[in-house]
Amino acid sequence: MNCPNCGAAMRVEAAKEALVCDFCQTFHFPEPNADGVRVLDEPVETACPLCQAPLVMAAAGGEILLYCGRCRGLLISMASFVEIVRTLRARYDQSAGKPEPLNPRDLNRRLRCPHCGESMHTHPYAGPGNIVIDNCPRCAVNWLDHSELRRIVRAPEPTRHDGAWLLP
Ligand SMILES: [Zn+2]
Ligand SMILES: [Zn+2]
Ligand SMILES: [Zn+2]
Repeated sequence: MNCPNCGAAMRVEAAKEALVCDFCQTFHFPEPNADGVRVLDEPVETACPLCQAPLVMAAAGGEILLYCGRCRGLLISMASFVEIVRTLRARYDQSAGKPEPLNPRDLNRRLRCPHCGESMHTHPYAGPGNIVIDNCPRCAVNWLDHSELRRIVRAPEPTRHDGAWLLP
């Protein structure tokens, strides 16, 4: 987006989860959505693996991820995923509500990685939230459907406390 103050192109500042104008130092902080993600709306060359709409940049936990404005899914690099989940879980209450059970139908879906075009791996996520995660080990990205990040973030503590569950 362009700076609302001076009209210059703004730049994504991941650590601040914001857009910044280097000319007049204006910051733009979008409100976090229901998944705790700030949608920065800067377009990228990657298409959504689910609905093919162009993805845009977004931020959470001081990390950049990609967001689909149509289906509200998230493409998150494996390197950022642990930090995003850790930060958001520290920010939200895990005592509210029982997690929904895993939907076995989610396991039958096949997505293609938007980076390399190979079939993504679809498997139950080892951490909290009872979700099915799709990932591409070659490109080291995870795909989360709409509300799956929220389910991970809001679910009660998993039984393993060694942090191993954080690994997708
Ligand atoms: Zn400006
Ligand atoms: Zn989509
Ligand atoms: Zn890939």
